[in-house]
Amino acid sequence: MGSSEKLHVGILSSPGLGHIIPVLVLGSHLATHHNVSVTIFVITSGSSLAEKELLKSANKSKLIDIVEIPAVDISNLIDANTKMVTQLCVLVRESLPVVKSVIFAKKHILDALIVDLFCTEALPIAKEFWLPNYVYVPCNAWFTALTVYCQVLDKEIEGQYVDQDEPLKIPGCKPVRPEDVVDPMLDRNDQQYSEYMRVLGLGFCLSDGILMNTWEDAEPGSLKALRENETLKSIVKSTVYPIGPLCRRDEQIIDGSDNRNFVLKWLDEQTQESVLYVSFGSGGTLSSKQLTELAFGLELSQQKFVWIVRPPSEVGADKSFFTTGKEGDDTPQYLPEGFLTRTQDFGLVVQMWADQVRILSHPSVGGFLSHCGWNSNIESITNGVPMIAWPLYAEQRQNATILTEGLGVAVRPKVLPTKKVVEREEIKKLVRTLHKQLNSFMDYVSDKFKELFELINSKLGASEVKYGAHPEEDTSGRQDNNDFVSNM
Ligand code: UDP
Repeated sequence: MGSSEKLHVGILSSPGLGHIIPVLVLGSHLATHHNVSVTIFVITSGSSLAEKELLKSANKSKLIDIVEIPAVDISNLIDANTKMVTQLCVLVRESLPVVKSVIFAKKHILDALIVDLFCTEALPIAKEFWLPNYVYVPCNAWFTALTVYCQVLDKEIEGQYVDQDEPLKIPGCKPVRPEDVVDPMLDRNDQQYSEYMRVLGLGFCLSDGILMNTWEDAEPGSLKALRENETLKSIVKSTVYPIGPLCRRDEQIIDGSDNRNFVLKWLDEQTQESVLYVSFGSGGTLSSKQLTELAFGLELSQQKFVWIVRPPSEVGADKSFFTTGKEGDDTPQYLPEGFLTRTQDFGLVVQMWADQVRILSHPSVGGFLSHCGWNSNIESITNGVPMIAWPLYAEQRQNATILTEGLGVAVRPKVLPTKKVVEREEIKKLVRTLHKQLNSFMDYVSDKFKELFELINSKLGASEVKYGAHPEEDTSGRQDNNDFVSNM
């Protein structure tokens, strides 16, 4: 043990809000519930205002010690076509000398080091300092299983994964549909595939243990496979710990500007569970065509909404991952002409960022159109808010499958938004039937999930004005998911 009797854990975070937030949540949880001293080392991106604000506000809480590692310049190592996973891995790799020196400076007080999923190349530093070391995967067990098993798939499967006719088999787990694979597996010739295989796939297996933000009832099948399946066990070797669901609390929320408080004030004026919250996480962007269809779909649905918008991008849905937080006071010019005026009585558009946890826990919110980032999923589930699953990138398509076919807490567009534009009429229909479709899913869920659904349903049924209550809509979109649940 370090210098004091209290255990002291260091956690190393990769850049980007979607990575820093779960690390802060883990750190706060250890400090609050386990009486552990925590130092978080954050490799910063240097390009996100929201990231800076988040760290400032986390520093203020004094619950955990935060050491910021300034962004290194990697501009000569990447170009305009470099994918997000490659950028992240390169940024972390180039930061390792500084990471080593900041950990060295604290090594006399540290008892263990946890690194997040993109920081496994720092594990040798922990080993060099004789620190027990763990990897934190702020995602689910099914994703973890696919990631570690990818090294076998790589040898067994020829051609692109997305071109396979059959789902990809992972021992003991639900097979992964080719179109649901994680982004880096979409193109085996791209550098981000080899980075993913090495830094995540092999990296996860090099630590003393893998912590995941999942829980037994959510994924009994995948967890059992990681623990007991001989093939997977021989790859993973270390122990797996489902430590979820870990979810953000108020003090971890970026402090409110007038813009953000304005959202909560607007929600205060709405009736219970009457509002659809629309957001694509810390960095998700849509193409101009898709953005336009979504705007018209929301307008046609006549459903109340809060929509966090950011400028469209034609070059990739994860374009804003490192740059989120440039709030705009100006009118978003990229929305259809007259949209803001036509929807002003029932919709609120916020540029770039808002306090999602406060929004999802607000009684006026009854549904969430989400990109299915794992943090967002947990925030929605723990607040009993059903979802429209609109996966964009990373492991979000796998997440969407868990939400729709495993947990049954979401409905999903018929076409895959990443491949094809989802048209306005379908969006209108999805928005209006969200509530009823979820009721029909309830017939199919196993006993294990009853509590979750009772929570969601009691919330939806709690008031006269219900989210999505349009009696004329067709609710026949039920899916048989019994097999899926048993395997998840
Ligand atoms: N978030 C937020 N406001 C926004 C967008 C995102 O507070 O306008 C938070 C959200 O609550 C979640 C995190 O950013 O905690 C996003 O993580 P997630 O895993 O859902 O998606 P990612 O951004 O990594 O794709």
